[in-house]
Parts: sequence; C-alpha cells; structure tokens
Amino acid sequence: MIHGDTGHRRAVLSVLQEYRRHLTADEVYEEVRKSLPRISKGTVYRNLRILRERGDIVALELGGALTRFEARQEPHYHFVCEICGTVFDLDEPVGQDLNTRVEKKTGFRVSYHHLEFRGRCSGCESTQTTH
Ligand SMILES: [Zn+2]
Ligand SMILES: [Zn+2]
Repeated sequence: MIHGDTGHRRAVLSVLQEYRRHLTADEVYEEVRKSLPRISKGTVYRNLRILRERGDIVALELGGALTRFEARQEPHYHFVCEICGTVFDLDEPVGQDLNTRVEKKTGFRVSYHHLEFRGRCSGCESTQTTH
C-alpha cells in the first residue's frame, strides 16, 4: 500500500522533528508505536533508512555503540552526557574556519566536521553533588 508507507514515513519523521531529540532506532519505534500501534519494527527501520537516504534525517555516530537519528537542521555540535547518555544540541556556532584551516594545511577537501563534547549534564551534575 503506497498510501500506508507514506503515512509511516511521515510518522517516523514527525517523531524526530517533534521531539528534537536524538533517538536510537528502537526509541523511534517506541514513539511511533504510540500513534501507530500496529507498525512493525522492520517498517520503522526501513523508513529510517529511506529518510536517511533522502537527507531528511541524519544518522549520528557518536561515542556510544548505537546510531542515533535526528531530523536534519543546521550544522551543530553535540554534548553527550557520560552518566545518563542523553545527547544535547549545543547552541554554539560551528567554526567554518576550521574546515578552511585543515584544507589549507592538508590539501584535502573537507565536507564537514563533527565536534562532540562529553561530560555531565546539569541534571546528573546536581544529583552527583547533593549526594
Ligand atoms: Zn546526564
Ligand atoms: Zn543534534
């Protein structure tokens, strides 16, 4: 059913857009299931792959073992909490001059760079200090 598959894809994309979070494939599946209880895991995974190929979402290979997905937006850096594993978007300008500098030094062509900060988020930090 063409109609059904389009609906599934839209549901998968809207989960990622709505929450603005960085979800693993399993987490996306759990969220989509709330509105489409009968959707299968295979369908969610397939639509994630299609959305990724179309450039609607981005797959993040962060320090953890699991790939996380987010709806495409402006380039941005990430902060990963080492305690709870939450991924945060950082409101920090992406340094394009870094690409230029590396290109000049190496003669390589840079497509993009990714920066990942790691540490303790404010929630985990306050739990740690009160104990
Ligand atoms: Zn945390
Ligand atoms: Zn992000």
